[in-house]
Amino acid sequence: MKRLTIHAARLEQAILELGRIGVNGEGGLDRTTFTPAELTARNWVKEKAAALGLDVRVDEAANIWAARRGKSGGLPAIAFGSHVDTVPNGGKYDGALGVLLALEIMLVLKEQGIRTRHPLELVSFSAEEPNPFGLSTFGSRSIAGKLTKRDLEGVRDDNGTLLIDALREAGGNPERFEQVRRKPEEFAAFLEVHIEQGKRLLRRGIPVGIVTAVTGIYREEVTVVGVPNHAGTTLMQDRKDALTGAAEAMLALERVCLAHQSDETVGTVGRIANDPNAANIIPGKVRFHMEIRGRTRDDIQEAVDKWEVHAALICSRRGVRIERRLLLDQHPVAMDRLIIETCALQAEKLGYPYAALGSMAGHDAAHMASLTRTGMLFVPSLDGRSHCPEEESRIDDMEKAGNVLLHAILDLDEKLDA
Ligand SMILES: [Zn+2]
Repeated sequence: MKRLTIHAARLEQAILELGRIGVNGEGGLDRTTFTPAELTARNWVKEKAAALGLDVRVDEAANIWAARRGKSGGLPAIAFGSHVDTVPNGGKYDGALGVLLALEIMLVLKEQGIRTRHPLELVSFSAEEPNPFGLSTFGSRSIAGKLTKRDLEGVRDDNGTLLIDALREAGGNPERFEQVRRKPEEFAAFLEVHIEQGKRLLRRGIPVGIVTAVTGIYREEVTVVGVPNHAGTTLMQDRKDALTGAAEAMLALERVCLAHQSDETVGTVGRIANDPNAANIIPGKVRFHMEIRGRTRDDIQEAVDKWEVHAALICSRRGVRIERRLLLDQHPVAMDRLIIETCALQAEKLGYPYAALGSMAGHDAAHMASLTRTGMLFVPSLDGRSHCPEEESRIDDMEKAGNVLLHAILDLDEKLDA
């Protein structure tokens, strides 16, 4: 018997259509959350969902939900989706693919007259990407109860716009924000399809990635303290140069992560400030952000510990001092075993090669996992590019991930009792 599939050409058309909203002169998308372009994209999603006869609702955090009733009353929902906001000059697949596949699946089920036991909910989360209000994964954190009304108070972007005003304009309700929180009993499962944003699947020629964990992110502010002095009259052996010490500490981070047994352990220094930053003064103080990501918290700790040994040696050799401040210690979030197994089984049945991998990037799924059993599927990113206009994925791969998602939902619908 021919297995039910999504329609690749229709999906491709939808990607192009949504990908025209917010397009800039460089061919990238400027669809930062709550901007006019993003509001247009939201309306597009709402209209498409309403045209499918779905029950469309915008919650207090301006997340868009589109529900389809189940056969059996009283069962919790199987939810799936992602986000439609982008980074500045971003691409048309990050987030959008997960929402468009959700729409496509709702359409296939409608066409085929398939009624699931569980209700199904499409979701397009608000403000997943970093945004001018400084609150990423805003929508999923809100429904998971990790953001409260107080977290919104007084938050403004650089233009002085209040978050609560922007939220209201997008259909949210800051006054009744407490009610955005959903209960674990309301969900049976959550699934998100997303582009990989790296090269691992592409390199191995594998079309479908099954995510085992959403990455943990660890960040420290490191300050290397030396002695500022005259850049001309201080002999080389007399210097306590904070910047060269910091440079060595950064290279040590790179070495530690390169040597780590898991290639998903990665370290980055993305932010640095040199003080006093003058041509004729030996730097006295350098402050940088050190970030380490890994598949498990132990992997991250191992990298931190090894770096610490290097840092101590650098300090004693150079006569500088290192001060450290923890900024973030977000633990990795394991995806649900049953969903991983269900996706693997369905990929096998469809004859698609698949691989298990960690996410290496943050996603809404990490917050949904605190509410319900959660899983993610990845689609290869061409050249591993993302968060740029060149971001692209092959329609064949997206179709395969869509089919795995479709069948995983149908399989979970039968398997899950609550
Ligand atoms: Zn994304």
